[in-house]
Amino acid sequence: MGAVAQVVVVGAGYAGVMAANRLAATGRSEVGVTVVNPRPDFVERVRLHEHAAGATNAVRPLSGLLHRDVRLRVATVDAIAERSVRLDDGGALAFDYLLYAVGSTVARGLPGVEHAWHVADVDGAEALRTRLRQLPEAARVVVIGGGLTGIETSAEIAYHHPSLNVELVAPALAAWLPDASRTRIAGKLAAAGVVLHTGRRATAVHPDGVATDAGWLPSACTVWAGAFAVPDLARRSGLPVAPDGRLRTDETLVCLDHGRIVGAGDAVAPPRHVAGHLRMSCQAAMPLGAHGADTVLALIRGERPAALSIGMVGQGISLGRRDGFAQATHRDDTPRRFTLSGRAAALVKERVCRFTLGAMRFPRAYRWASGATPTVPEPTPATVR
Ligand SMILES: Cc1cc2nc3c(=O)[nH]c(=O)nc-3n(C[C@H](O)[C@H](O)[C@H](O)COP(=O)(O)OP(=O)(O)OC[C@H]3O[C@@H](n4cnc5c(N)ncnc54)[C@H](O)[C@@H]3O)c2cc1C
Repeated sequence: MGAVAQVVVVGAGYAGVMAANRLAATGRSEVGVTVVNPRPDFVERVRLHEHAAGATNAVRPLSGLLHRDVRLRVATVDAIAERSVRLDDGGALAFDYLLYAVGSTVARGLPGVEHAWHVADVDGAEALRTRLRQLPEAARVVVIGGGLTGIETSAEIAYHHPSLNVELVAPALAAWLPDASRTRIAGKLAAAGVVLHTGRRATAVHPDGVATDAGWLPSACTVWAGAFAVPDLARRSGLPVAPDGRLRTDETLVCLDHGRIVGAGDAVAPPRHVAGHLRMSCQAAMPLGAHGADTVLALIRGERPAALSIGMVGQGISLGRRDGFAQATHRDDTPRRFTLSGRAAALVKERVCRFTLGAMRFPRAYRWASGATPTVPEPTPATVR
């Protein structure tokens, strides 16, 4: 038996836990796996809007999820060097291979956004949960953002805090979905008691309200549900990054310029011909984590890693606990005709959330839909101006 390769997984989210468990389960005699994460818990980010509304607890001990052979180091990685990482507790860890899976968090893209609450990470969701409990009856809560997070968050707050007045402001609601689906979602939000201000863009957040391009919206609690941003660890460490800070990798998830670093999850940017259709999502992070583990094992074994191949299957939207909407998608994430609505859609969404935890516990058996036909070809030198 050869020497055991030391693998450090940075980040214990969906991608990191899947990767660590798959490595430990499939490469038992070949790898020693250490996961570094700032807290000893797994945060079910897909439930953070539920957590904020007080419907559920999205935090669970990592000890119940990680494979028994995976070591957990509770710390934050401050810097990545050639063969080691520096930790915020003064320690360091050497690695033969590193799996970069630091995920994403809130994007600070709007003036005054520090006056808003958010659900992009657990600290944000916890603070919003506290704030919602303090609000007097009939207080106004304004959610900014017409994407999935804004839709789910406004519905969840309206469902669990019926005494509050919940409003949503956004240029458009689920702009990428077919008109019929958007109309259905708008109707469901209205039925849940959410007042919609679509066609309006928020321009700034103030302590007592939201400025928009069509006037002022008073607010006792503003929730910012804009885009996600990634940590700047890769950039700070001198690794190659996309303009938004995601780690640049090749089509097998190996970092460009560093053959011992592999990326997975929200924080990576593989080439467009294999990943241009992948949204920052749990749906993509899980197979990215599993593929990242397979790539690390191939490198350890001196084999050629396989190219990434992930197909999307749909978008599930929870609208409170008893209603939902699901849009089936082609593998390239464009909408199909099939949709599901109401209680059945809420149940499907709940099952998907539970499935993610089950899949991490049985990482060897985990399979995913294969890849999409690229819609946006990778520019070749001939087409780049
Ligand atoms: C409210 C909400 C609802 C969502 N709903 C859905 C949904 O329905 N479907 C879907 O597919 N997706 C959904 N998402 C998106 C999904 O949660 C993310 O895309 C997913 O969590 C990405 O997984 P990840 O493993 O890349 O990162 P994360 O889950 O963000 O995990 C990253 C981990 O890395 C850790 N970390 C960060 N920096 C460091 C460091 N320097 N050192 C050590 N550790 C570090 C973090 O603390 C975290 O534990 C939702 C997100 C939110 C916020």
